[in-house]
Amino acid sequence: MNFNLTETQKSIQQTFKAFAEQKVKPAAAEIDENKTFPMELFKQVGELGFFGMRYPEDVGGSGSDIVSYCLAVIELARGSLSLAAVCTMQSLMATYFLYRFGDKEIRDAYFSEALFGNKIGGICMTEPNAGSDLMGIKTVAKVRNNDFVLSGQKTWVTSAPVADFFTVLARTDNHEQLSIFFVPAKTEGVIIGKNIDKLGVCGSVTSEVAFDEVHLPKNYLLGGIGEGTKCLREILAEIRIMTAALAIGVATAAYQDALEYAKTRVQFGKPIGKFQAIKMKLADMAVQLESANRMLFHAAWLSDEDLPRQKQAAMVKLYASECANSICDQASRIMASYGYAKEYPMQRYLRDARFTLIGGGTSEILQLGIAKELGL
Ligand SMILES: Cc1cc2nc3c(=O)[nH]c(=O)nc-3n(C[C@H](O)[C@H](O)[C@H](O)COP(=O)(O)OP(=O)(O)OC[C@H]3O[C@@H](n4cnc5c(N)ncnc54)[C@H](O)[C@@H]3O)c2cc1C
Repeated sequence: MNFNLTETQKSIQQTFKAFAEQKVKPAAAEIDENKTFPMELFKQVGELGFFGMRYPEDVGGSGSDIVSYCLAVIELARGSLSLAAVCTMQSLMATYFLYRFGDKEIRDAYFSEALFGNKIGGICMTEPNAGSDLMGIKTVAKVRNNDFVLSGQKTWVTSAPVADFFTVLARTDNHEQLSIFFVPAKTEGVIIGKNIDKLGVCGSVTSEVAFDEVHLPKNYLLGGIGEGTKCLREILAEIRIMTAALAIGVATAAYQDALEYAKTRVQFGKPIGKFQAIKMKLADMAVQLESANRMLFHAAWLSDEDLPRQKQAAMVKLYASECANSICDQASRIMASYGYAKEYPMQRYLRDARFTLIGGGTSEILQLGIAKELGL
């Protein structure tokens, strides 16, 4: 087994690390407080080629492996989980179905532009009454004179207030399975609802989106009728691996701040890091991070090798997101009042990390999936 990164992987890690240190970290508090989409940094991430990492060179991407992609995601998430969340949503979920099934019109006008951050996409799956249970969605696409008419209500759509296009999961007439549609945001009948005010990842703006009899040409069906669920399954493992990388990024930031603080904060005549209780917390956090990283890169490697990875992807998403929340909690205790003050990023890490418990499947849903893999 070779655990070393290749020269290319090291260089990608370095590029995103430097970008996160110099550009993202200094802006992270403002992104959080303003609760607005971080447009300028988003464009810069596009210029670094992040949105095209997972797509082949012949369509404008760089064909990077998932290991490299995860290294970049971790660095972005160390800087700002809000920024990393919108960028990963763009690079994987919003654009994937355009790449797989979009015709020339869609690819030229939207996909190619999205790879450079010139067009922003959102994915509309969740509905007010259908979250984990996607088969319960009610949004419907009716066939009318060769076209489709889409109606329904979506919610929690990341980047919706600034989006140029959506990929929408809907039910088609008389079909048990779901389908995916491409919908330009400016189409008549697309209504962007109010922003959802959130606990964390506040710069990753999220809102409701309603579709009121939206007419869509035939070529806006991405994949066949009823193939949406199957298509989603194609990228589910990668989405979970990516979410684990987001969790590891924010956890690493919290751990490093706490470690530094433990070395410098003096109480009772010595740095608090000399007290056994603090040492044990930090040692446990280091073990958790090390384990989460190993699991992440194993799952990413399996994916790069096109080997079965559903179980490992679910396991690492579950483990890394739970660890991230535990690490942010412990790190904030180490910083005590300074971990509670808005002036320092620790409180933001703590709030932001909660998101990783939900996106990509809740812990309970992942546990169910893992148990199924165990034959239960
Ligand atoms: C910041 C953020 C951004 C998001 N962005 C998007 C986006 O861009 N597009 C999009 O479509 N969605 C998005 N979502 C929505 C997200 O995908 C859903 O929130 C998620 O799927 C969970 O659905 P829910 O919140 O409705 O919870 P529910 O499914 O209602 O679950 C509630 C609770 O019940 C548990 N539960 C549910 N079913 C079972 C079961 N069978 N067994 C045991 N426990 C169960 C869950 O684990 C959870 O604890 C986003 C969410 C957040 C927080």
